[in-house]
Amino acid sequence: MSVEEMQSQKRNVFDAETASSLVKELRDNFGSGRTRSYEWRVSQVKALLKAVVDNEEQIVDALRSDLAKPPLETIVYEVGMFKNSCEVILKELKQWMKPEKVKTSIRTFPSSAEIVPEPLGVVLVISAWNYPILLSLDPVVGAIAAGNAVVLKPSEIAPASSSLLLKLIEKYCDNSFIRVVEGAVDETTALLQQKWDKIFYTGNGKVGRIVMTAAAKHLTPVVLELGGKSPVVVDSNVDLQIAARRIISGKWGLNNGQACISPDYVITTKDCAPKLVDALKTELEKCYGKNPLESEDLSRIVTSNHFARLSKLLDDDKVAGKIVYGGEKDEKKLRIAPTLLLDVPRDSLIMGEEIFGPLLPIITVNKVEESIDLINSGTKPLAAYIFTTNKKLKEQFVMNVPAGGLLVNDTVLHLVVDTLPFGGVGESGMGAYHGKFSFDAFTHKKAVLYRSFAGDSSLRYPPYTDTKLRLMKALIGGRFLGIIRALFGWS
Ligand code: NAD
Repeated sequence: MSVEEMQSQKRNVFDAETASSLVKELRDNFGSGRTRSYEWRVSQVKALLKAVVDNEEQIVDALRSDLAKPPLETIVYEVGMFKNSCEVILKELKQWMKPEKVKTSIRTFPSSAEIVPEPLGVVLVISAWNYPILLSLDPVVGAIAAGNAVVLKPSEIAPASSSLLLKLIEKYCDNSFIRVVEGAVDETTALLQQKWDKIFYTGNGKVGRIVMTAAAKHLTPVVLELGGKSPVVVDSNVDLQIAARRIISGKWGLNNGQACISPDYVITTKDCAPKLVDALKTELEKCYGKNPLESEDLSRIVTSNHFARLSKLLDDDKVAGKIVYGGEKDEKKLRIAPTLLLDVPRDSLIMGEEIFGPLLPIITVNKVEESIDLINSGTKPLAAYIFTTNKKLKEQFVMNVPAGGLLVNDTVLHLVVDTLPFGGVGESGMGAYHGKFSFDAFTHKKAVLYRSFAGDSSLRYPPYTDTKLRLMKALIGGRFLGIIRALFGWS
C-alpha cells in the first residue's frame, strides 16, 4: 500500500479523535442557538419526512436486501409509522414547546412559575438492524423536534439501510446539526467515548450495559430500548381463530419474529393447548402456504450468526420431539419456517433467552391464573399480552404483570398508539418515546420561578427571633391559625 493510500485510509478511519472533532463541531454549531427555533425544528422534521416519502422505493429495496422484508411490512412499519410520528410532531410541536405555567407556594408569595422545555444539546442515537429505518429516524426526529443537534449511528448488520440513511440525511437535512456515522463496534466505541447530552440506544441488553457504562463516565443520561421475553397468555374462553391470527400477525408478520415486542412464548392451559395449536396451524397455512420457506411474506433471518443461534435453540436435546409444526430450515437462504413447540421445559435453551426469530414455544399450566406468577418469575418483559374475556383475569393481569407495555386481546398494536409511551422497564430498558414522549426524551424541563421586588419579607433574614421561628413552623405546616397567632404574638 502506498503512503498516500495509507494516509487516505487513516483519514477515513473513524476513531476517537474524529469522533471528538465531530462532537466539538456540533457543539459549537448548537451554541449558535439555531436549533432552538420552532422554524428550524419544523424545517428539519419536514425535510426528514420528505426524505422518506420521496425515497419509499429505495427504502423498500434496502429492507429487501438487508432482511428480505416484505414490502407491505416496510410500508406499514418502517415508512408509515415514521410518517405518523412526523405528522404528530408537525401538528403538536408549537404546543409542546410552550412553557407550562404552574402554581407556586405561599412561601414564595408573590411569585409566578413555569416549566420551560429546553433542548439538551448534542445527542447520540444508536440504532438496531431489525427495523433499521424506523428505529433510526424515529428517535432522530424526536431529538430534532426537541431542538437538539444529533448524530445517528445506524446498525452495520443492515448495511443497505445504513448507507441509505447516510445518503438521505446528507441530502435532505441541515448537516451543521444532523449527521450520520456508519460503522460497527469500533466506530460506536469511539462515539461512546465522547461526552453527549443524551444517548438513545436501541438493541440488546449486553450492549445496553456497555452504553450505560460509557455514559456514566460523563454522567450522560440514557434511554435504553432493549428487548426480553414477551409472553402471550391465552385463556380457553376466547375465539381461538381470532387469537391465532393476532398472534401470527405479531410474531411472523413482524419481521418473522425478529422484533422486540414480538410474542416470545405462549402460556395456555393443558386443555386449551391442542385447540390453540390446531388454530395456529390452520391459520399459519392460510398465511404462508404449505411451504413457508418459499413464502415472499416472511423475512429471512438477518445473518448466518443469528441463523446458527436459532438453530442451536431448536437442536437443544431438551426440546427434542417438542416441535408440533414447522422446524424446516434453509441455511443457504437463511430461512426458518414458522415453528411451534409444545410443552417445552422451562430450563431449555429456548426459554432461557429472548428468541428473536420464528420459533414459538408453548408452555402449559393447569389454571390460566398461574401464568401471572410464571411471567413474574422471569425478568420484566418489554411487552405482555393476554387473550381472555374474563374481566377479573384482565384486571389481575394489568395490576400484577410489570412490563414495558400490556395489550389485552391482541399483540403489538399498542406500539402504534402515539399517546402511549413506548419503552421498557427493568431489564427491558429505561426511558420511553413515541409522540410527545419522544419530545420529552430529548428535552430538559427547566424550572423557572419569577419574583418581583415586592413582598420582601423580613422573615427570611436574621436575626431569627422566636416569632419568626413560630411563623415559619406555621407556614411550613400550612396552618392558617398558627400564622395569625405567630403574627400577633398569641401563644
Ligand atoms: P445490533 O446488532 O444492530 O446492535 C445495536 C447497536 O449496537 C448497533 O448500532 C451496533 O453497532 C451497536 N453495537 C453492537 N455491539 C457493540 C459494542 N460491543 N459496543 C458498542 N456498540 C455496539 O442489534 P441487536 O442488539 O442484535 O438488536 C436486537 C436486540 O435489540 C433485541 O434484544 C431486541 O429485542 C432489541 N430491540 C429493542 C427495540 C426496542 O424498541 N425496545 C427495538 C429493536 C430491537
